[in-house]
Amino acid sequence: MESPCQHSDYVEMTVHFRCNLKCRHCMILDSMHWLKPADDSELSALLEENRQSKQWQGLILTGAEVTLRKDLPQLAERARAAGFQHVRIQTHAMRLADMAYCETLVASGIDEYFVSVTADTAARHDLITEVPGSFDKTLQALRNLDTFPGVRLMTNTVVTRLSYQGLPEVVELLKDLRNLVQMDFWNYWPMEEEGNPELLVSHFDVRPYLKQAILLARKYGRHVEVKNFPHCLMGETSSALKNDQPELRIDPKFWDEFNRNGFEQCAYRDICGSTQCLGLNTAYVNHFGWHEDRLSPMPRSA
Ligand code: SF4
Repeated sequence: MESPCQHSDYVEMTVHFRCNLKCRHCMILDSMHWLKPADDSELSALLEENRQSKQWQGLILTGAEVTLRKDLPQLAERARAAGFQHVRIQTHAMRLADMAYCETLVASGIDEYFVSVTADTAARHDLITEVPGSFDKTLQALRNLDTFPGVRLMTNTVVTRLSYQGLPEVVELLKDLRNLVQMDFWNYWPMEEEGNPELLVSHFDVRPYLKQAILLARKYGRHVEVKNFPHCLMGETSSALKNDQPELRIDPKFWDEFNRNGFEQCAYRDICGSTQCLGLNTAYVNHFGWHEDRLSPMPRSA
């Protein structure tokens, strides 16, 4: 299935840095207390910029958990009034287990929901989020949102040692959602040189489960995007790797933390033709090595 949304058509702004989950893989778990969200003047400037340039079709409101902002519906209304055809939120969606809140957000103009489903079972999801009952709320939210015509659902499941074996089951779990257009599988970003051994897992252990999940999701008509997995290990599913992202407006200090991942480490980086691959990162290499004998540079046209 073709991508329902081109990343270049969207701009992303971080408007909130608080969350009521503690996902173990969270990229900003240690930095969200000091990262600064965009203030109202920055949002207004972005809306005005797009009103004049019409550069983007969609605005993504993100940061940590944006549904904790009481004025989220008003932000969406302003974005729509400024000419954005789509407003998306990135969310764990727990608050959307309340149908009345779904109605409020949909009526405000939020038509796309990028929802974090961390695992295939309540036991695993709640272990990862560290909040009992979070899985049930997120699933109820997806079922609620699935009743609204015109709403687009997307999910992301972060691939870690705690989740990888359940990736195909996540696809099965969500197979009846009619509004689900895209499923993402983002391989764990360690955000530090050592990474968390509890989360790190060999790409070779992940590969069969990831492949099965991709093929299954495609069978159900979903567009699939994988991030941060070696391109040369994806075989027949290699077209699912897409590390592009919408333009992100975020506190510039975030990038100092992000760059601690140390991407692009691969013995073959200089000769490999993949334009999507991020290679390995520092924490991965420290734990599992370089895999020179198992990675293979892709042709220049890849
Ligand atoms: S050889 Fe290295 S850079 Fe090329 S696709 Fe494989 S992991 Fe990525």
